[in-house]
Amino acid sequence: MRPLSTGFGSDGASTRHRGPRGRAWRRKPSPSGDGVVTEIILDAGAAAGGDLTSHQMVMDTVTRAKMIVAQAWSLLPRACLAGAVTKIRLQDLGAVHGQYDPDTGVLTLNPMLYDGRQIDDAGGADPLRGPRVSRALHTTLHEFSHALGDATGLDRRPAWLVLSGWVKDEQDASGYGRYWERRPGWDYGPSPWRYRHGSWFCREYSSKTPYEDFADVVTYRALGWTHVFGQSGRPKLWYVNRHVWREPDEAEQE
Ligand SMILES: [Zn+2]
Repeated sequence: MRPLSTGFGSDGASTRHRGPRGRAWRRKPSPSGDGVVTEIILDAGAAAGGDLTSHQMVMDTVTRAKMIVAQAWSLLPRACLAGAVTKIRLQDLGAVHGQYDPDTGVLTLNPMLYDGRQIDDAGGADPLRGPRVSRALHTTLHEFSHALGDATGLDRRPAWLVLSGWVKDEQDASGYGRYWERRPGWDYGPSPWRYRHGSWFCREYSSKTPYEDFADVVTYRALGWTHVFGQSGRPKLWYVNRHVWREPDEAEQE
């Protein structure tokens, strides 16, 4: 999850003011749950794969969280993440699995992630169908990917928005769909973003905003779940291959 941003024009151009670190100013997330706040400090050495240190909290959850954070960290190109995450925190977020706050760089993970549940490559859990990973790794990668998208601006470039026809235009909705949040514990209602009908998404939740779309594509690529993209999804895979992983895309070779 990523707090919904404000200030985008319907043409997809960003009109937001930039913070002193090149980060957009956005309203802070409002965690829906209460609970013990635990911080896993991602120190300066972490940019080079260094150690993580922790404070407080039940040791086995923190240990698991640290291992999974390190795993997620190893699956993403670190150059794109430099400075984007200042702190990783374990905190009860109610029904929400994780959050990234672009204003502070704080990434929050819900301790319930470490209960052993899994998620498959269709975003499902019951029953699981295809390749699967722990919810914990999936969410950690997803939130890291928000940090990456925000730090690089790759989740709001016109070249990204055009791949799903992302618009916030309320006037002309013909030919466009939008995600409705209906899950208990989440803010109910429609997304302010619309996508062009027929657009391809990793899972239904990806269709909420261009930021969720981007975070999921990066997550799927990091997990090696490239088989899901297919013909219509491949331009999104190419986009992250080229701009995040700095690899030549298949489109140039075809
Ligand atoms: Zn998200």
